[in-house]
Amino acid sequence: MDNSPTAETLVSAARLYFDTFLCHRDPKASAALASNRITGFGTGARERVYKVEQALDLYRMDVEAIPGPIEYSIRNIQAQGLTDDTGVVLGEMDCHFFHLNQAASLLNIRFTLVMRKLDGRWILEHKHLSQPSQAHEEHEGYPLKELEDRSQVLQRMVKERTRELEETNRQMQRLAITDVLTGLYNRMRTDETLDVEIERQKRYPAPLTLILMDIDHFKAVNDGHGHNRGDEVLVEVSRLLSQRVRRTDCLGRWGGEEFLLVCPNTSLESARQLADELRRAVAYQNFGVEVDITLSLGVAQYTAGDSRESLLERADAAMYNAKQEGRNRVSFSP
Ligand code: GH3
Ligand code: MG
Ligand code: MG
Repeated sequence: MDNSPTAETLVSAARLYFDTFLCHRDPKASAALASNRITGFGTGARERVYKVEQALDLYRMDVEAIPGPIEYSIRNIQAQGLTDDTGVVLGEMDCHFFHLNQAASLLNIRFTLVMRKLDGRWILEHKHLSQPSQAHEEHEGYPLKELEDRSQVLQRMVKERTRELEETNRQMQRLAITDVLTGLYNRMRTDETLDVEIERQKRYPAPLTLILMDIDHFKAVNDGHGHNRGDEVLVEVSRLLSQRVRRTDCLGRWGGEEFLLVCPNTSLESARQLADELRRAVAYQNFGVEVDITLSLGVAQYTAGDSRESLLERADAAMYNAKQEGRNRVSFSP
């Protein structure tokens, strides 16, 4: 769907700008209608980018030179939306004003304004004014400089937009694999990692071990302290765990109060040591709740013929075993 702004929208934004700057001669209000990277003032040799404070200085100088209102009339105004939040306005204008107590006129000024919508308001991104009747012949098309200026500013806007889009994309990709509450990988990502590691270990055999963890009696935390406090405990447990795993391990939130750690290249003995370290880190932490926060952990190692499901089932069975044997302990899949 094309959401480009209409010509009327752009023209009224341009008129608001001209009224503010030319008629009301209000530098501050004019600067407020300009982007912080406005270009094209003093249409000199090269495009210059102005910070809004510099633009304000230029507006002030202009108003100092001609303090009274400048009457203007516009001809041949055309506007076109380029994207949903940019557009170009072109036209010609005449200006009448008093300079040093003398009536003066500037006729046939051609203008190009690039307008951009920011936070719901249309602001000026680029301005180019020129006087073809003096600098150019009347029959000339738009002077080259003007066209160059305009294309430069549009290129710059596209670049900025591309950068913004790339950043948004990165954030979205991160969100898609992250558990919102704990910041750990989410289940989808953990599943994917496990699939990848299973495939990898089929080609390059190396011990692949899983540690599945479940917080003991977690329901009692919610019941005794409320769900929000329960959330905080989950975040704290996640932090304790992630501080202790290797960068090559993948720690994910597997479910409500369950975590899965995928450990490539890890023997059963190393996994046992790691699992016990995690267990102790949580058990010795004071969470400030009445319930003792502990983990039950199940450890399983990949064996030939395992699928993701069968490997997880064995880790789950081991964890269930740890629960049966009294919780706050590590148990192994046979
Ligand atoms: P067990 O030792 O057998 O694991 O007991 P448990 O109470 O931990 O187990 P159960 O499965 O009965 O309860 C898990 C609780 O975790 C129930 C659920 O409300 C809570 N829970 C799951 N996800 C969240 C969450 O995101 N935030 C909070 N605060 N609680 C959650
Ligand atoms: Mg559970
Ligand atoms: Mg539990």
